[in-house]
Amino acid sequence: MSDETIMQQSVPPSHLNLRPLRVLIIGAGIAGPSVAYWLTRLPPPFKCEITIAERHPTLRDAGQQIDIRGPGIKVMQQMGIDEQVRACAVDEPGVLVLNRKGKKVAFFAAGGIEKKKGGETKKNESKAFSAEWEVMRNDLVNVLYDLTKDREGVKYQFEKEFVAMGYEGHPLGPEKGVKVWFKQDLFNSETYDLVIGADGVGSKVRGWIRGSGEDKDDVFDAVDMAMAFFTIPGKEDDPKEFTWCHLPGRRLIMTRHEKPEYLRVIFAVVGDHPELREAHKNGSVQQQKEAWAKLFEPDRNESWQVARYLDGLFNSTEANDWWAHDLAQVKMKKWSWAERAVLVGDAGYCPTPATGMGTTLAFVGPYILGGEIARACKKVMAEGKWDGNPWSNTILPEALEGYESQLRPLVTEIHSLNIKKFMRLFLPEKAWQIGLFHAMARFIKKTPIDNIPALGKEGKKAWRLPDYSEVFTPEG
Ligand SMILES: Cc1cc2nc3c(=O)[nH]c(=O)nc-3n(C[C@H](O)[C@H](O)[C@H](O)COP(=O)(O)OP(=O)(O)OC[C@H]3O[C@@H](n4cnc5c(N)ncnc54)[C@H](O)[C@@H]3O)c2cc1C
Repeated sequence: MSDETIMQQSVPPSHLNLRPLRVLIIGAGIAGPSVAYWLTRLPPPFKCEITIAERHPTLRDAGQQIDIRGPGIKVMQQMGIDEQVRACAVDEPGVLVLNRKGKKVAFFAAGGIEKKKGGETKKNESKAFSAEWEVMRNDLVNVLYDLTKDREGVKYQFEKEFVAMGYEGHPLGPEKGVKVWFKQDLFNSETYDLVIGADGVGSKVRGWIRGSGEDKDDVFDAVDMAMAFFTIPGKEDDPKEFTWCHLPGRRLIMTRHEKPEYLRVIFAVVGDHPELREAHKNGSVQQQKEAWAKLFEPDRNESWQVARYLDGLFNSTEANDWWAHDLAQVKMKKWSWAERAVLVGDAGYCPTPATGMGTTLAFVGPYILGGEIARACKKVMAEGKWDGNPWSNTILPEALEGYESQLRPLVTEIHSLNIKKFMRLFLPEKAWQIGLFHAMARFIKKTPIDNIPALGKEGKKAWRLPDYSEVFTPEG
């Protein structure tokens, strides 16, 4: 259907009481609030009543630097939050590589974001290892919450943890939909027309979508690597750069120092570590910390600042922001179920933090889902298909199909990065291999991420962000 056809609208018959779509979004991270935002811009008379359920008592605004790239930046700009995000963007000079004694080996200048120098705006074009935009996760989560919390039709409910859902018949009449149960009230269910799982890499909603028979394959593709993020008190002479120190045994310590009072520490390890895996799966935060500390304890007095990091991990309140995971790509054949439930962000297509693409997809996926719903609404108006319930007859089936077909090529491209192989090269086993890596590091100009056409120059091959400006209601 051409955009011109979309613009020729019929009006709903006066007898039709088109009620708002009851939408439940699980998770108030990045993808959840983003999809809520786009659903508030459907063309009238279509509207949603949106509940965002977050399992934590408050916004889960922990986390360290996260990257926003290419199409993610474009979406953020269309949401009108680029100025707020720019204001809290992290201004790192670049990447500093140290040897285990703390001596400088290489430096890569930061690229992308514009910086003001002497009144002039300059952009550094160097790309390797630096994202275009880097922000602290907590700042971004708060910007998105502020953007959405007072919008008409949106309500947040905290301390509300999704546990299960069940199907209530199809095609849905006005009262039918999906029944959902929450941990806080297992004896009562709530009914929604559409459930959107934005509940991160460990998504519970995903289990129900897989259980529906759409996709029985194992979707959790481990990349043989684990990462742990925590904060300790900063010191005046901590490096301002994103600093890396490789240790033998495929281990890496990274630090970031965007605020004088904090030092962000990241531990990474490649290979099979059953104790770590078990702690991530079933252990408490304390057990996870102990499992990680065991891996780095042998270097306590041998390597750059290890003693300080381990002491800070157990003794500083700052380290309560602990977040650790076995890295895995989430690969699903289909992201939706029976036109009643759909996944966005890490829940559906986590590419792993090692790619730095999770947040970009958590912006792009919700934009496309919202855009496809808006487009299908316009189509109903253009074709005058008001019979029955347009939400279930036309809009949701078409929109969910459009979401799959528009987004799938980008996700496939990002998932095709061979993270496992790259990380084995990037985190060498032996000390002499680390020496070799250091010698070569000086000549690295690009990472595999920089080769994704969607992030590079707009060539023939490049994936393009769909344009929904004709179907979304303009702001204000
Ligand atoms: C606490 C935390 C810290 C992080 N730190 C980093 C980091 O330092 N670096 C990095 O690269 N990435 C980090 N990430 C991951 C990063 O935010 C995502 O990869 C990316 O931004 C995609 O966002 P998302 O909204 O899909 O998922 P997430 O940002 O993971 O958000 C998911 C949300 O869903 C909520 N949730 C989960 N299960 C349920 C449930 N059953 N019921 C209700 N709510 C639920 C979670 O509490 C969370 O608020 C972190 C994620 C979290 C949750």
